[in-house]
Amino acid sequence: MDFRYLGNSGLKISEITYGNWLTHGSQVENDVATQCVHAALDAGITTFDTADVYANTKAETVLGEALKGQRRASVEIFTKVYWPTGPAGPNDTGLSRKHVMESIDGSLQRLQTDYVDLYQAHRFDTETPLEETMQAFADIVRAGKALYIGVSEWTAEQIRAGVALSKQLGFQLISSQPQYSMLWRVIEDEVVPTSKELGLGQIVWSPIAQGVLSGKYLPGQAPPPGSRATDEKGGADMIKRFMADDVLTRVQALKPVAEQLDLTMAQLAVAWVLQNDNVSAALVGASRPEQVHENVKAAGVRIPAEVMTRIDEVLGDVVERDGALTAKNSPPKRIGS
Ligand code: NDP
Repeated sequence: MDFRYLGNSGLKISEITYGNWLTHGSQVENDVATQCVHAALDAGITTFDTADVYANTKAETVLGEALKGQRRASVEIFTKVYWPTGPAGPNDTGLSRKHVMESIDGSLQRLQTDYVDLYQAHRFDTETPLEETMQAFADIVRAGKALYIGVSEWTAEQIRAGVALSKQLGFQLISSQPQYSMLWRVIEDEVVPTSKELGLGQIVWSPIAQGVLSGKYLPGQAPPPGSRATDEKGGADMIKRFMADDVLTRVQALKPVAEQLDLTMAQLAVAWVLQNDNVSAALVGASRPEQVHENVKAAGVRIPAEVMTRIDEVLGDVVERDGALTAKNSPPKRIGS
């Protein structure tokens, strides 16, 4: 495993990081979830990402159990706050001081740890003054409940405002967690340059486009049994955007490109995001330990420039690049308000 600094900080994280959205506490049984976490640890992954909202808090509990017994200083645990868990009452969501301060304690309890390495704003809260949110984060860092602060799916402008406040308040806002893959490149024009300027690293989610870039979904055919596209608990809905025949046809055409580098398609997809030097980690999911074994082999892979160009030619216009989509990820109004 190779390690990268998380933004302009002294924190090193495994460049392949394991996340448990849609899987732990939902799509996969707890014993398989634990096997996946242990496969990750065995492969040298030290960094684990979850959120209070995943499987409505169950994912944090499963991860906490699976990491039990690990030396705390040898792993990095990341979680997030914003979305409601349980009842969506007016104060059960967003980034108000009340919701943030209450949520961190629930997360620490479920993760069975005294602190998280990174606490992330899962979305931007358009209703809470940013000063209030950042003061709450400053207090959480001061209390030793989180070591660093990050954001997820914030625009360049929101990141800039957050960083300015974090500097005034004396804590480190060091990361951005956006979706990024060969098929989804909306951060390249604004979020990445701004993050580079301000010292944030990207922890990129769905680098395999939720499984689509593994090439296992074939155009015009039913998805393989047990895959995310068949998961009625949420996965099938989330992956829908990529399950179009034009996308799946182009993805199939990447097969020879991967073979040329002696990589599987999933490995090529993970290695591709790691070619961007503002990316601190590729945040991969897995429903089976074998997938972890396969995907970690993307660590340290260099893709030659001519192959990067070839990938662009193969994918053509199915790549999404519209930077304005980042702003649409944060709800204009809080749920439950
Ligand atoms: P990926 O793109 O890595 O997709 C993972 C899924 O793809 C697996 O669960 C598996 O699904 C399939 N897969 C993985 N490897 C292979 C393989 N080698 N061959 C075939 N299929 C494979 O990322 P995720 O979408 O899971 O997201 C990763 C993490 O990112 C999350 O766990 C979470 O931590 C974070 N995230 C953050 C968000 C945010 O808003 N901040 C939003 C979403 C995710 P299956 O076997 O079921 O088909």
